[in-house]
Amino acid sequence: MSIAANVAALRARIPAAVTLVAVSKTQPAEAIREAYGAGQRDFGENYAQEWKAKADALSDLGELRWHFVGSLQTNKVRTLAGRVAFVHAVDRLELARELGKRFGAAGATVRAFLEVNTGGEETKGGCRPEEAPALAAEIARIPGLSLVGLMVIPPPEEDPVPHFRRLRELRDRLGLAELSMGMSGDWERAIAEGATFVRVGTAIFGPRPAKAP
Ligand SMILES: *Cc1c(COP(=O)(O)O)cnc(C)c1O
Repeated sequence: MSIAANVAALRARIPAAVTLVAVSKTQPAEAIREAYGAGQRDFGENYAQEWKAKADALSDLGELRWHFVGSLQTNKVRTLAGRVAFVHAVDRLELARELGKRFGAAGATVRAFLEVNTGGEETKGGCRPEEAPALAAEIARIPGLSLVGLMVIPPPEEDPVPHFRRLRELRDRLGLAELSMGMSGDWERAIAEGATFVRVGTAIFGPRPAKAP
């Protein structure tokens, strides 16, 4: 199926209240343009330099909203300031403070998700679930940043549903609005568990090229 057909098929199945983020990492700018032409407006990228090249090439697409979904180094925040609407993988105070500072200086507010490592994976980003309440309270006070919800990437070899449930319980306890969870293989289960943002790559764009173009 074409990118446009994939977008249309997904949109037909995803409730209107759920934001479909098309994750376009390693895909060429023309693939994003095709999805945009089919009505897709929210796009997610993982690498700051790659994102910037595409954002510059696509600056004529006036309604495009960028989401940064990858793990983010503090020294890359400056590149994103004022041009990215959402950052999905905020997992430490230092990063949240830098986002608030740089977006605030650009006269903008970035909407942020606190990433929670519900799987306890050593090598993955995300704060520990026990840390989340205190961290969320600190982050919520930062000007230039609006903490909107929680995000999770479940361990790939596990059933994602218990991780989605844990994230939702935590979100409810913290009184936040949004849940960023679900990818190509599990977005339907994520929506059934309350996702309000799903991040879908290969089900829209097909397999990823090995290297960034
Ligand atoms: C790549 C990526 C996705 C999309 O993954 P697919 O399996 O291709 O849908 C979603 N979220 C994050 C954080 C990603 O890095």
